[in-house]
Amino acid sequence: MREGHLEETLRRIIAQALVDRVKDPRIAFVTINEVRLSRDKTSAQIFYTVLGSDEERRKSMQGLRSSAGFLQSIIGDSLRLKTIPRLHFRYDDSLDRSFRLEEILDDLHSGPEGEAERSEEMRFIPYPPPPDLVEVFREHHSFRLTTHVNPDADGIGSLLGLGLALEAAGKTVQMVRHEDGPSAFSVLPGYDRAVLPGELQGEDEVLVLLDCHELERIGPAADGLTGREKVVVIDHHLTGDGDSEGEVQWIEPAAAASASMVHSLVGAMEELSLSGEVASCLYAGLITDTGGFRFSNTDATTLHVGGDLVEHGADAAALAESFLHRRSPATLRLLARVLDSFDYRLGGKVVLARMTRAMCEETGGRMEDTEGFVNFATSAEGVELVALLKEVDEQTWRVSLRANDPYDVQRVAETFGGGGHAKAAGCTLQGPVEEVEERILEALSRELQMETAEG
Ligand code: 5GP
Ligand code: MN
Repeated sequence: MREGHLEETLRRIIAQALVDRVKDPRIAFVTINEVRLSRDKTSAQIFYTVLGSDEERRKSMQGLRSSAGFLQSIIGDSLRLKTIPRLHFRYDDSLDRSFRLEEILDDLHSGPEGEAERSEEMRFIPYPPPPDLVEVFREHHSFRLTTHVNPDADGIGSLLGLGLALEAAGKTVQMVRHEDGPSAFSVLPGYDRAVLPGELQGEDEVLVLLDCHELERIGPAADGLTGREKVVVIDHHLTGDGDSEGEVQWIEPAAAASASMVHSLVGAMEELSLSGEVASCLYAGLITDTGGFRFSNTDATTLHVGGDLVEHGADAAALAESFLHRRSPATLRLLARVLDSFDYRLGGKVVLARMTRAMCEETGGRMEDTEGFVNFATSAEGVELVALLKEVDEQTWRVSLRANDPYDVQRVAETFGGGGHAKAAGCTLQGPVEEVEERILEALSRELQMETAEG
């Protein structure tokens, strides 16, 4: 079945089942607008709208979530599919978006007297956040902001940007960093006030997960939670097989960085402002996740968001210098060792690379400061897939995976319990390094064959 056709068929089956089979009053006013299947067809995003108040909208979300399993079984009965996609419901804000456009047009027509007010109001919001998410930030007072372990600048930048914006609006915020981040983090405003998980104090009303959507991914930052917190997710990673957390989930795979989503959230809330400090944190996240606006996640919107952040005070050259260019001599010595480890396999299409603790000790380089090392392998002519193995301990290896078009390493990472994006993903494997290498190589070889077969 062609993909577009299958998506439309799924839409009809789900819409019909909601009317005929799911006996839940909470979903009475739901319309299913669109179904989007993931590339591997293992998950589907279901876009829907609700007629009615915010309260009704919240209830329908709960109703839809609780009927997902039943709907999946109906799909399984109706269609002969290799895998039944997992259903993820997303409120479709494209209607809200067009209302916003009308408002802006109205403003434009309102004449010169509205000028000062309008320049204040003209905010660029390419990824409108779900209304129930905005509501949580409005209604609650204390927030614990977290990101994934081994945080990158997108995780930390999104966290600091949102944290500073909320603080400026009078909210109480605990921003949680992880130990041993990259040295460049120290230039970010607010980083010196971020606490380690062990330094958290008291309870917070809301737990926010940034740049990840699974509680396991925030590691010790989840310690000491009471279970009473409202959990909110802001992430641009595709939902993998792991169960997503959060009563309010905002996942926007089209956004190049989580920082772009926070930029829209700040824009959508009149009570928050995009200060120079907030813009700097977000810009750092945006440039690292796009490799300096070079990766395939860079589209026109990515660049517009970057432009807006610079307009609001982010120093593009200084941040690029800190996050993309400057390295300590020790880090460069470590890079030399990693480059030297490149092992070209499968006819030169795959590079296996290694970074061991011994290399770090011998060069004085820190593993946290090696962002971008893996990309040197994707630049080699003829290379399609890359795996860089980083030693955590003798039996534990963190693997960074990269792909050139049309290959997809997210599905590779997922088979090992990891995740990420199509072109950049990661996972952790246990065992001696030779064994880990062979398992990864086998999975990459399958990915090469699958694409060759499909294309
Ligand atoms: P990196 O190789 O730069 O560490 O990670 C590449 C991408 O994969 C990032 O978006 C990162 O968040 C994601 N990623 C890395 N390791 C894991 C993992 O173990 N689990 C999941 N879900 N994502 C990961
Ligand atoms: Mn990210």
